[in-house]
Amino acid sequence: MRTLLLAASALTLALAAAAPATIAAADAETQAALALAPVPPGKLTDAARPTAYRIDLTIDPNKERFSGKVEIDAVLKDSARFIDLHGRDLKMGSAVALAGGKRYPARYFELDPSGVARLTFSEALPAGPVTLQFDYDAPFNSGPAGMFRVKVGEDWYSWTQFQSIDARAAFPGFDEPGFKVPFTVTLRTLPGQMAVSNAPQVSTTREGGMDVHRFAPTLPMPTYLMAFMVGPFASVSGTVPATPQRQAPLPIRIVTTKQNAAKMDFALQGTKGIVKHLEAYFGQAFPYPKLDQITTPILPGAMENAGADLYNDSILIMDEKASTSQKRTFGMVVAHELAHQWFGDLVTPAWWDDIWLNESFANWMGFRIGHEWRPNLNIRAGALAEGFNAMGTDALVAGRAIHQPIPTNAQIDEAFDSITYGKGGHVVAMIAGYMGDTKFRDGVRRYMAAHKYGNATSADFFRAMAEVSGDPRILPAMQSFTDQQGVPLVTFAADGKGGYSVSQSRYARLGAQAPAIRWGIPLCVRRAASKQQCQLLDQASGSVRVAGRGALIPNAGGTGYYRFELPAAEWNALIAVADKLPGGEALALDDSLFASFQAGRASPDQLIAGAVKLAANPDSYASEAGVGSLEWFYRNGLLDADGEQGYRRLIRQLFAPKVAAMGFDPRAGAYAAEDPEKSQKRIQAVGKLAGAGHDAALRKKIGDAARAYLAGDTKALDPSWFGIGFEIVVEEGGLAAAKQLAEAGLASQDPLFRPNALGAVATSGKEDIGRWVLDSFTDSRLRRSERLGMIRGVVANKGTRDMGFAWLQANYQDLVAGGGGIFFASRLPGMVGGYCSAAKADEIAAFLRPKLAGKTGALELERTIERVRSCGVLKDARGAELSAAFKKVK
Ligand SMILES: [Zn+2]
Repeated sequence: MRTLLLAASALTLALAAAAPATIAAADAETQAALALAPVPPGKLTDAARPTAYRIDLTIDPNKERFSGKVEIDAVLKDSARFIDLHGRDLKMGSAVALAGGKRYPARYFELDPSGVARLTFSEALPAGPVTLQFDYDAPFNSGPAGMFRVKVGEDWYSWTQFQSIDARAAFPGFDEPGFKVPFTVTLRTLPGQMAVSNAPQVSTTREGGMDVHRFAPTLPMPTYLMAFMVGPFASVSGTVPATPQRQAPLPIRIVTTKQNAAKMDFALQGTKGIVKHLEAYFGQAFPYPKLDQITTPILPGAMENAGADLYNDSILIMDEKASTSQKRTFGMVVAHELAHQWFGDLVTPAWWDDIWLNESFANWMGFRIGHEWRPNLNIRAGALAEGFNAMGTDALVAGRAIHQPIPTNAQIDEAFDSITYGKGGHVVAMIAGYMGDTKFRDGVRRYMAAHKYGNATSADFFRAMAEVSGDPRILPAMQSFTDQQGVPLVTFAADGKGGYSVSQSRYARLGAQAPAIRWGIPLCVRRAASKQQCQLLDQASGSVRVAGRGALIPNAGGTGYYRFELPAAEWNALIAVADKLPGGEALALDDSLFASFQAGRASPDQLIAGAVKLAANPDSYASEAGVGSLEWFYRNGLLDADGEQGYRRLIRQLFAPKVAAMGFDPRAGAYAAEDPEKSQKRIQAVGKLAGAGHDAALRKKIGDAARAYLAGDTKALDPSWFGIGFEIVVEEGGLAAAKQLAEAGLASQDPLFRPNALGAVATSGKEDIGRWVLDSFTDSRLRRSERLGMIRGVVANKGTRDMGFAWLQANYQDLVAGGGGIFFASRLPGMVGGYCSAAKADEIAAFLRPKLAGKTGALELERTIERVRSCGVLKDARGAELSAAFKKVK
């Protein structure tokens, strides 16, 4: 899966609304079932193994509940009086086991809120084959977890999102990735409705007034990759023609809600291209007999269900006129999900501790294959930006390694964090670069071939890589990054003989104490006028001689997962060429310089000089990076009033000339034919100048265009400017404008307009609007995930943060009563991560620690507390110095 972490909208981390029953005071029968054996806290035992499922569901999204008949063939290791499995919030009508030609009636108990269930029998089942039969019904969720339904326009639709452990809210089963078996699915729908599952549909018949859609048995599949989508969808079909890896054409469809019907072709054509690039990399045909690409308005990201991927509307629904960032997201996310058809679906981790084998690789492949698909979008640079971003999290003392044990169900969803995605992708890129692209690819192909349609572990992957690399040091080097948390810092010092002595240590922010760690670092360096040279730094220190002339570039290509520290002269020489560095190296400079400041070393003047030079870099990620780091001080309140004014002057100084040179026309499609990088840089420059720069003339132009758009002139404003445009409308029009904009958002089903309109209302930063959002904005059209996203927006904005945090404290129980789903629980604490003081860190700790102890979100809470505290330390130590430096900007 892939969350839209980088998207601007405050609504993208929407909150899910699953509804797990809390197991309250258990009745006597449940007590007896509990007494048979301890409830497994995580992985089930191997007492029962499924071999096949037959799932028959009746799904009418207009209703609040759906029903199912499920049969599971399984094998019992030993004779048994009970079987542990999974099921959550299922109302069981009947459960029975058939074994050796005999019926064994069963009692079904849900034993804990994570959905561990137990079947008990009055007489023991024999060892060997058994068939379990269930008849049940269950509620739809309103948030993107389990089986969920949403009203779009006048119609209800339903979708599924099962990763990590929400399949159990749709059907009883053995809901773990290690159990891969065939599923035969039947979906019963209202007449004329479309039904989509993982395998091709083989027939539709009419039975009892319902359409009965029967699907072919799937290839072996874990529960978390199953999918059942039902509704009056629109769709378009095509095929990916045969490739050198595949003889038969591959049928593909785009499936979406009706109002998106006119905008499906971009996704259809784009999917075809991406499938071909992936098949060429893996040297193997697409692993499933068909591919459906489905969209929903409320999943805040995408999910790789085998042969039936699910996406947020905004990822697939667009045309060629879409913005650079929207097309980048399409390329990266579609390539990510389709790479998962191999990494994750074809070869599945045996347990969630190895989820990095899915996500780190899909992330790396997503950017790489997205780049191959359309090189002019510069998608590849986004991978490094995400990796450097993850270093900020990995540098904290609280944290986790990419690969670590997951003993409890509460920890599963926490593994889907920026460490697994951003760090994991960066580490894969580093190792692939060091081994050589061809050898690395051969290792990937060998691993795929050895485990196809089965399960594998990290050890299996490492073995495949060791076999092709021919270098015994690769394995321990790779494991030093996957099995340990933390960011290496490589410190360079001139050795007086024209070279450098280098030493490695664990990077820590000012005031932090982290245990020492050593890595095997593929250290690649060059000079501005020379090629890179690599060596493995696996000792505490070493020496480096760098041929050629010009500034020392300590992370050549930017693919190294490490930070560097330089003598002052080397820093200044590197900053002086920041406008000319390739994108990845520019991002590495930005990250290490900012980190050096946060550790108490680099000066504010060096930071500002770096940001000014980087803003002139031709790469749009690099030009954004330096100013982005400065903006962090501004957003987190490290600057005093004079410092803030200086920051605004700097923004105007940097971006007014750019906007003047590039020109600015807010009308729809004005830059549709332009080079994507140029177009992206205009969006950055206009956003900065009109936002923090507060340029009056520019704000008037955008504000007028946005108001004209809202008045019905849909050509007046390109969707690229929805964010800044609606922000200005609310800023200038106050509460009345906010209410109108919220109404316009709710009246629309447009995948870009609706979230941007609601987002601008939520993040206004104005007290009266924030108060209205929190206490009064209720409407039957406002989806629960949108409502929760808006609350998040109020808390995220500096101007309404205190009010939002107070509201959160007063309403916490209501907020979380709906439970979790992967998109919510582990990210809840981050909502208050914008604070910057030790006192606030204590307040957050006192409020949330008792609530999250032992639950999903406990780790994210510790990270948030440390971030807030560490920001306070930095502000106290360096805030005045920083403000003084900004004050000097003329
Ligand atoms: Zn993924």
